[in-house]
Amino acid sequence: LMEVLEHEQDLPSRTPDGHDMPLMVNTGLTVDAVASLKSRIGGVGLYRTEVPFMITERFPGEQEQTRLYRDQLESFAPLPVVMRTLDIGGDKDLPYFPIEEANPFLGWRGIRVTLDHPEVLMVQLRAMLRASQGLDNLQVLLPMVTNVDEVDDAMRLLDRAIVELGEEGVPVNRPKVGVMLEVPATLYQLDALARRVDFFSVGSNDLTQYLLAVDRNNPRVADLYDACHPAVLSAMARLGDDTRRLAMPTSVCGEMAGDPAGALLLMGMGFDALSMNAPSLPRVRAAIRRVPLESARELVDETLRLDSPGDVRRHLAERLGGWD
Ligand code: PEP
Ligand code: MG
Repeated sequence: LMEVLEHEQDLPSRTPDGHDMPLMVNTGLTVDAVASLKSRIGGVGLYRTEVPFMITERFPGEQEQTRLYRDQLESFAPLPVVMRTLDIGGDKDLPYFPIEEANPFLGWRGIRVTLDHPEVLMVQLRAMLRASQGLDNLQVLLPMVTNVDEVDDAMRLLDRAIVELGEEGVPVNRPKVGVMLEVPATLYQLDALARRVDFFSVGSNDLTQYLLAVDRNNPRVADLYDACHPAVLSAMARLGDDTRRLAMPTSVCGEMAGDPAGALLLMGMGFDALSMNAPSLPRVRAAIRRVPLESARELVDETLRLDSPGDVRRHLAERLGGWD
C-alpha cells in the first residue's frame, strides 16, 4: 500500500471533484529531509522555534537564530514558512530556563512568557526579520494568545524591531502575522483578532486539551483526550464557518490535520490548508485524492449529529476505515 501511496506523492492534493487542499509541513529541527518534499507541499505551516532552543545550552543569540531561520526560509523559498515565536512552558521546558508551576498548561506558556521577557522576543523577531531579507517568505505566528492585548503588544515589538533594523541599515519588509487559535477564548473573539492579524492557525492539540479540560500528556486521562469528542468537532466546524465568513486564511496545524479522517473532516469544514508532520503526508494526500469535497461535507454533517466520541469513531470507521 505504501508503494502505491508513494507513487501518488507527486500528484496534486486535489479531490476527485477538483478541490485543491494545500498540504503543508510542520518542522522543528531537520530541515534537509523535509526540504526534499518542497515540490509536493504548499510550504511550512508551522515551524516550532522552541525545538532548536531545546538542544542548546543557553538562549541562542541573534546571529545563531538568524542562521537557523535563514536555513528554514532558504530551504523552502519561495514557499511560505510560518515561524511560531517561542512556545515554551506547558510540556516544553528549556533546561536553562526552568519553569516550576503547579498547573503548567494553565500557566506561564507561549506568548505569556515572551511578553514578560520582551528582550527574548525582540531577539527572536529581529533574527526572523534579518533571516528573511531578500526572500520575503516569512510569516510570524503567535502561540497561546488569550487576549487581543497580547497581539497588540507583540505587534508593537515587531514594529520596533523593523524600525531598529532599518536604522541599523538592514531594511526589512513587514511579514504577515498570524495568531494560533488554541485557547478556547479566541473562538469568541475572532472578529477582534481578525482586525489585527493576517491569518489564523488552529492548534487542535491544545484546543482539544483546553475544551475538554484534559491534560494532553497525562496517561490517567488519556482516554478522555479525544479530538473525536463532539464538542471538539462542533468547535472546529464553527471555526471553519466563522473564519470563512471573515475571509481569514485559516489552516490547522495540530495532529488532527495529519490523520486522514481528521483531514477529510477539516476539508469538509472549509479550512484553507492542513499542516502536518512529514510522515503523515502520503496517507492524507491519498485520502484527499479519493474523497470528493461534497462527500467530506456530508461526512461533517453526519458526524456533527452524533452524541459521543465513540459514536463518532464508529461512524468514521464505517465510512472511511477509521481514525488512528
Ligand atoms: C497545537 O497545539 O495543536 C499545536 C500545533 O501546537 P503544539 O502541539 O506545539 O502545542
Ligand atoms: Mg499548541
